[in-house]
Amino acid sequence: MDDPVPEEEPCEQCGLCCRIFGPGIAPTAANVYTWMEQGRTDILRWFVAFVENGSIPVSCLDLAVDDLGGVVVFEMRDHSTGGYMSVCPFLRRVAKERYLCGIHAVKPEMCCTYQPWIWGETYFNRCKSLKKNRSKANI
Ligand code: SF4
Ligand code: SF4
Repeated sequence: MDDPVPEEEPCEQCGLCCRIFGPGIAPTAANVYTWMEQGRTDILRWFVAFVENGSIPVSCLDLAVDDLGGVVVFEMRDHSTGGYMSVCPFLRRVAKERYLCGIHAVKPEMCCTYQPWIWGETYFNRCKSLKKNRSKANI
């Protein structure tokens, strides 16, 4: 399938993908390392790590760089309750129908590579950019 969205202006910033999938995002160890190096406790506190040989989640605030190699998986969690999130804590509403990422410069890799307008693993048929360009192209 051809990409119906021009590369130069792919996202309408409607925030829908972040609102739906945001609570399920997980960083890579490289993302967490960057946040550690930059002292981004405001980001680290929203993630836990499951470390080899243990099933208890450890807050990323309590991890050391040397622990990263032993992490099996990272998950987003509410740092005050330990429960799952219903909304990504980094999503910012800046206008009635416009949303931005509050950690855009250092957001998780899966957010950086997410391209819902391209047919494939991350294709999202409710993406506003995809719909707009489909109607323009009369697809
Ligand atoms: S981290 Fe940013 S880009 Fe990723 S889901 Fe949250 S608001 Fe969206
Ligand atoms: S659903 Fe599409 S247009 Fe809306 S924020 Fe996500 S990528 Fe951008």
